[in-house]
Amino acid sequence: MQDSQNSQQAEQGIAISSPLPRKSRQARVVWRNNVVTVGGDAPVRVQSMTNTDTVDAVETAIQVRQLAQAGSEMVRITVNTPEAAAAVPYIREQLDRMGEYVPLVGDFHYNGHRLLTDYPDCAQALSKYRINPGNVGKGDKKDKQFGQMIEIAAKYDKAVRIGVNWGSMDQEIMAELMDQNSRRAQPWETRQVMYEALITSAITSAELAKNIGLNPDNIILSCKVSGVQDLISVYRELARRCDYALHLGLTEAGMGTKGTVASTAALSVLLQEGIGDTIRVSLTPQPGEARTQEVVVASEILQALGLRVFVPSVTACPGCGRTTSTTFQELAKKIDDFLRGEMPVWRTQYPGVEAMKVAVMGCIVNGPGESKHADIGISLPGNGEAPAAPVFIDGEKALTLRGEHIAEEFQTLVLEYVQRRYGSHS
Ligand code: SF4
Repeated sequence: MQDSQNSQQAEQGIAISSPLPRKSRQARVVWRNNVVTVGGDAPVRVQSMTNTDTVDAVETAIQVRQLAQAGSEMVRITVNTPEAAAAVPYIREQLDRMGEYVPLVGDFHYNGHRLLTDYPDCAQALSKYRINPGNVGKGDKKDKQFGQMIEIAAKYDKAVRIGVNWGSMDQEIMAELMDQNSRRAQPWETRQVMYEALITSAITSAELAKNIGLNPDNIILSCKVSGVQDLISVYRELARRCDYALHLGLTEAGMGTKGTVASTAALSVLLQEGIGDTIRVSLTPQPGEARTQEVVVASEILQALGLRVFVPSVTACPGCGRTTSTTFQELAKKIDDFLRGEMPVWRTQYPGVEAMKVAVMGCIVNGPGESKHADIGISLPGNGEAPAAPVFIDGEKALTLRGEHIAEEFQTLVLEYVQRRYGSHS
């Protein structure tokens, strides 16, 4: 058996791994001529959320713009008070004035039904509403207040994310399922009941929204939890039970390396299985860290999986005892920062540049080989090597840099390469 499998593999070559497709419904999140499709055949979208006070329209608009420029295709803002709702149209106006048509998503809890009713300009300026069914009201008010928001979304033809979160679970659903569970001959684990409650809350809310008149294509679901294995379990089942577009994210992922790794681990498994139409990486910014870091991480996850291409990639070796100076680390960082900094302009000026590969390598062991595989690469001298840095362009050695200004000269070579290869005349 093993032999026949081996010979079949030898015939066909080793299977190339790629993410599975998932055909969900497709939502449209629109502002002016900017239509961001979510689900269906659309690429997996990157989302983010501001952490400014929404009442401060200028500061919020500036941060929305920064997130959009970093690659966020939709940006969510908190709409929690009448003052915040009143500020939303001004935030939209500021962005429009700057020519930034990124769709805004309003995050509503507890009083969303009142805010959307009392502030119709806010309801119209937003392109999508996020509604948490666990936070829309209790008892008979729950369906009524949820329905009120859905009617407004249907009226203005807005997309809605029904975003369940285990930190604010619908306690009535949870109690009912716990009750059912106690009557089972072999009761489930509490975790399993919680999974069921999250999914039930999302799907029954979506059905209710559909019955009220919301276009089912414009419904996006999410069931966020903070444990990696919990998220995988919940989304596998959610994807099996419905065909709505799904928003993916590990809630309260944490800060720094922990948050980045946990989000990457959870999202990668699901995205590889074709689950997830839009993602957010919920990172707690470290003091002094830019809010845009969550966009960078989300984009990197999609790019690493081969699902999207956002920015030219820099291949850099980790360094070792063969290169004890920091020169090559500094160059790798400088080139990476340079490429990211230029992308907002390059994206329109040099179409296709996002797929460019740049290599910055530390010594002769893998340096020339890796540099030849890149579009443009440099191999710096390791310890004891001649102080020369060969540059490879399109797989051929083009020139050798020497002296104090290798970093600046290599950056110029990268820029010239971009202009030559991706400029309109090319
Ligand atoms: S390329 Fe050279 S410096 Fe970089 S990790 Fe390999 S051996 Fe070390």
